[in-house]
Amino acid sequence: MTGLLIRDCRPMGGPAADILVAAGRIAAIGPGLSAPAGTPVEEGRGLLALPAFVEGHTHLDKTLWGTPWWVNEVGPRLIDRIEAERRELARRDHDPAAAAERLARAFLLRGTTRIRSHADVAPEIGTRHADALVALRDALRGTMDIQVVAFPQSGLLVRPGTLDLLDRALRNGADILGGLDPSGIDRDPKGHCDAIFGLAARHGVPLDIHLHEPGELGAFALELIIERTLAQGMQGRVVVSHAFCLGEVARAPALHEALAAAGIALATTAPPSRPVPSVRAARAAGGRIFAGNDGIRDTWNPNNGPDMLQRAWLVALKNDFRRDDEMELAFRMVTDWAAAACGFEACALAEGQRADLVLLEAENPLEAVAVQPPRRLVVSHGRVVARDGAAVP
Ligand SMILES: [Zn+2]
Repeated sequence: MTGLLIRDCRPMGGPAADILVAAGRIAAIGPGLSAPAGTPVEEGRGLLALPAFVEGHTHLDKTLWGTPWWVNEVGPRLIDRIEAERRELARRDHDPAAAAERLARAFLLRGTTRIRSHADVAPEIGTRHADALVALRDALRGTMDIQVVAFPQSGLLVRPGTLDLLDRALRNGADILGGLDPSGIDRDPKGHCDAIFGLAARHGVPLDIHLHEPGELGAFALELIIERTLAQGMQGRVVVSHAFCLGEVARAPALHEALAAAGIALATTAPPSRPVPSVRAARAAGGRIFAGNDGIRDTWNPNNGPDMLQRAWLVALKNDFRRDDEMELAFRMVTDWAAAACGFEACALAEGQRADLVLLEAENPLEAVAVQPPRRLVVSHGRVVARDGAAVP
């Protein structure tokens, strides 16, 4: 890893400073720094410097990013979307490795250096998607950090053989075990929770559970997840993704307290279409919450994109954030809060931290969320990896 000197930028919107990088880490931040002879120099031209972003929930394996527009005529139910995707990916002989790499590199161009991606595991595809993401994770190590969640998108107990495939995906190197709607899809909440918590314990891996179930059904699932997390001592190692029920039930404040006490973090996409967990309520209860895009340009949804500033802006809109102290919450949903909850290395702009950072034209992080300006420079592990939206080899 080489060094780097970035002159005249404004870390987090503060006064102009230089950032000196050595061996991939921030060695110093301050005015008028000098670097050893031969160190590459970048002129910051007064641009805002931010830590690189974190994508906390996406599906790299299933994206159609970089392929022609897909005509979406899918029905309105969750099961319609699951089945349409299964059919279409089989029809087009979808290559999860190529798809995932295209999208991961698109994230990098926009300043995201850490991604948690779910990967489908199901009888008709076996562990092919998860294995492809494990290979991509290993190939991009040193440039991006990718976590792979082995995820039973089509159901677990309702699709015999899936549990064994999840076991195999974890043996093949997946980092995290996924779960999905214990009642709504599997129709066996106890059986589903027994299965995923048991398998997670056998492999010593964290859990990340998709929970779309509405209202009291979802709240019941949350209670089961909380009980098992505590019983198994998995505090700090369980994420519940979506948890729409927390935007619906009157007892959400008590559920937020219980989630916080069990060390369970929430991942939210803050979609316009559903009630969502309130960021303020989660934080007020002492809980952890972070953001992700979910699927990007896939058979579920053509609208999302690989830009975490855009996702932070959508979180701000959905949560009615207006004040500066609220906009800061949106920024943290895609930076340090996401890194901590997912177990990624933190990349704050401070001495000793890994040098993953972004330069862009904005006054401060809050304006960056509101405006989402183009990324002028992206640095990962101390190396310039993108300039003005183009990859730097
Ligand atoms: Zn998802």
